[in-house]
Amino acid sequence: MAVLRLSDRMAEAAEMIEVLTPPTRPRSIPACPRCLSVDSAPIEYGLPFVPECLEWERQGLIWIGGCVVTPGLSPDWHCRACGCEWRDSARQ
Ligand SMILES: [Zn+2]
Repeated sequence: MAVLRLSDRMAEAAEMIEVLTPPTRPRSIPACPRCLSVDSAPIEYGLPFVPECLEWERQGLIWIGGCVVTPGLSPDWHCRACGCEWRDSARQ
């Protein structure tokens, strides 16, 4: 596994920050299949770990899903009330 130097990683993150735009709240937020809360957020994958993204997560606009996406298996939504994660039924 290649290990990037810290300076490389920071340069990489700085490049990505320039193209980041704040997410808009999705029009329809599905209710959690477990607790029925609608306090859920779309899971975003591959976002840089930067203050902007953490702030969006705090505001409930997104949920940071990490870098690893498994096509067909990775969940689309995260319930902020109970932590349940599930896939969009429309995409199954
Ligand atoms: Zn829930």
